[in-house]
Amino acid sequence: MKNIDQILNAQLNEIKEQGTYKDERIIETAQEAQISVKGKTVLNFCANNYLGLANNSEIKKAAVDAIQEWGFGLGSVRFICGTQTIHKQLEDSVSKFLGKDDTILYSSCFDANGGFFETILSDKDAVFSDELNHASIIDGVRLCKAQKHRYKNCDMNDLEKKLNQSSARIKLIVTDGVFSMDGTIAPVDEIVKLAKKYDALVMVDDCHATGFIGENGKGSGEFYNVLDKVDIISSTFGKALGGASGGFVSASKNIIDTLRQKSRPYLFSNSLAPTLVVACLKALEIINSNKNLLKQLQQNTLFFREQIKEIGYEIKGDSHPIVPIMIYDAKKAVALSEMLLEKNIYVIPFSFPVVPKDQARIRVQLSSIHSREQLVYAVDTFKDCGKALNII
Ligand SMILES: *Cc1c(COP(=O)(O)O)cnc(C)c1O
Repeated sequence: MKNIDQILNAQLNEIKEQGTYKDERIIETAQEAQISVKGKTVLNFCANNYLGLANNSEIKKAAVDAIQEWGFGLGSVRFICGTQTIHKQLEDSVSKFLGKDDTILYSSCFDANGGFFETILSDKDAVFSDELNHASIIDGVRLCKAQKHRYKNCDMNDLEKKLNQSSARIKLIVTDGVFSMDGTIAPVDEIVKLAKKYDALVMVDDCHATGFIGENGKGSGEFYNVLDKVDIISSTFGKALGGASGGFVSASKNIIDTLRQKSRPYLFSNSLAPTLVVACLKALEIINSNKNLLKQLQQNTLFFREQIKEIGYEIKGDSHPIVPIMIYDAKKAVALSEMLLEKNIYVIPFSFPVVPKDQARIRVQLSSIHSREQLVYAVDTFKDCGKALNII
């Protein structure tokens, strides 16, 4: 028998040599605009806490009250004895929010995507997936028997060519609504046009859009005014909608019914905890009733994107709170992030293989809870450090 420690050590060393070994930073406070890391207070620009709901007091109160009323856990999958009134309420709220017939909850969006494709598609069908789609879509697609086509990132000519050549029974186009390394919004308007032309279905994974992209935060479909033409939306409660955990798929009645009958991560995994369910209901209520959070996020995004360009950095992406600041050289990106951390700005550099070679960047993520002062300080610090390192 081979020695597993030897094998794994060799693999781990290889990861370390490649410089891609991930050390987890320990945060000593709740998720906020300001957090404590190693006893040091830093400005946090790397959470998916877009609307600042991760430590929102109304949501926390809802969660505490929910424990009292509905208990801590259910100890069951949904179809045995794990469905409470609140689970149906949350599914209804999400359906109403997105204008779909029905919604099915999962423990995560990873599970939602993982359990979708093999349930809905067979070997008579075909899936057309953007090459930069999230790992959970890639894994979900792998599990299904449909013919698989990978089109170039947001390349509508490539997608059309592949749709045109297919004679599959069901054709399903699937894309991330927002590509999180680039801060770009997928061309969902063009995708739905191609879908109509080739009689295909459209699925959008809107994890980096639900709650804050589009006029009312309904995501990339709303951003392009084509929400009703997106057939299937998968998304998460783990980002803008409170940031705890949980995911869902919203679609037509028959699609959701079929998922409830056959989707394996739904059937064979525990029901979402009552606290999460009630807190997510509250998050949706806040988003529906208070447009200020969304406005503040948009203003912060606009301000930071403009200022960071003005001091000489190149950035990528659309008007999204993910702001990739292009450094290109991986070592420089690391040096910049380290210097920024010394000055209490917490950002993460990304380099190959997470992004293409020589496309290293620092990804800043904005939140509605960043104050103008904090943003100004960040821009000034980016300026000082960028100059010190000869980047700008
Ligand atoms: C974050 C993310 C997921 C995973 O969501 P979880 O609920 O954390 O599992 C899936 N797809 C995309 C595009 C994401 O950004």
